[in-house]
Amino acid sequence: MSYTANNSRYQTMKYNRLGNSGLKLSALSLGLWHNFGGGADSVTINEILRTAFDNGITHFDLANNYGPPPGSAEENFGKILKKDFKNYRDEIIISSKAGYFMWEGPYGEWGSKKYLTASLDQSLRRTGLEYFDIFYHHRPDDNTDLEETACALDLFVRQGKALYIGVSNYSAQQTESIIKIFNELKTPFVIHQPKYSLLNRWVEDGLSDVLTKHKKGMIAFSPLAQGMLTDRYLKGIPDDSRVRTSHFLKEEQVNSDLPKIIALNEIAKKRGQSLAQMSIAWLLNKPYITSVLIGVSKVEQLKDNLKAIENTVFSEEELREIDKILK
Ligand code: NDP
Repeated sequence: MSYTANNSRYQTMKYNRLGNSGLKLSALSLGLWHNFGGGADSVTINEILRTAFDNGITHFDLANNYGPPPGSAEENFGKILKKDFKNYRDEIIISSKAGYFMWEGPYGEWGSKKYLTASLDQSLRRTGLEYFDIFYHHRPDDNTDLEETACALDLFVRQGKALYIGVSNYSAQQTESIIKIFNELKTPFVIHQPKYSLLNRWVEDGLSDVLTKHKKGMIAFSPLAQGMLTDRYLKGIPDDSRVRTSHFLKEEQVNSDLPKIIALNEIAKKRGQSLAQMSIAWLLNKPYITSVLIGVSKVEQLKDNLKAIENTVFSEEELREIDKILK
């Protein structure tokens, strides 16, 4: 059946400006790293994407290597885009990235102009898009001059293959350095995508200050620590969970963080939220956060997470209690 988006889709979602740019992102964004690859059930991924857009999520995040196999998330998204969302392209922000390994030989990863150019063209072909709204360098490359990477990204904007530029996984110092080059080139660099959650707060040691100073946005990836900051692991390890279905989350990690997760869950209960909702709300409470980039394997998880925006206010006492647990 052809898809018509929900008429009230813009009524409850919040839209936050990316620094001082003209662009706004939905407070929640949806990432396609897991669960949208080659083996994914097409009915489920269709339902997840429709539910996201019907509830005001306008930003969908991809990368060249998302799958498995690498590239398949872009291909699947491209098919659904063509079928369901082609009339809504101007209401959607689609990002992709290059930086991690994609093909054999010396030009298949990192930050050279050669790799970035080829990878962006491949991503456009896989998705069937004419341009990405945001294109990221996925990880810093210590062996390539930062100027080469920055100039390649700048060129993509001038060629019309990307509207805005972002970086991901760059340290505070690396971000400061590349912003200097982007300023000289007048590149529309608008966003940093770091890992950030209650269980991983590295951005608070410098990066958030750099982005605030330069009026750039921040979108937090793995905000639920890949599912640990939800009720997923409170009663053991389910067979269909990321621990069992992917090598990116290890059982030992869940077990070592479990006491913190249980204590955080008690605070969430007192706030009348699920742990997932509280974990998202805690990020949205930070003034430098533009959007929280969630992943989901089921439509019910998405519906749960969407309710996070109903309460993003924390009392001083709640914040103190949370900090005490995380020490
Ligand atoms: P999350 O931390 O949001 O973890 C998502 C997982 O948490 C889901 O797959 C599901 O696990 C579980 N989950 C989500 N909501 C609920 C809920 N309400 N109740 C119970 N369980 C829930 O994010 P991801 O690690 O998936 O990352 C999100 C996005 O961030 C990626 O898709 C990608 O776009 C981006 N990213 C970027 C990176 C970068 O280097 N720039 C690196 C990693 C991610 P389960 O599968 O077990 O059901």
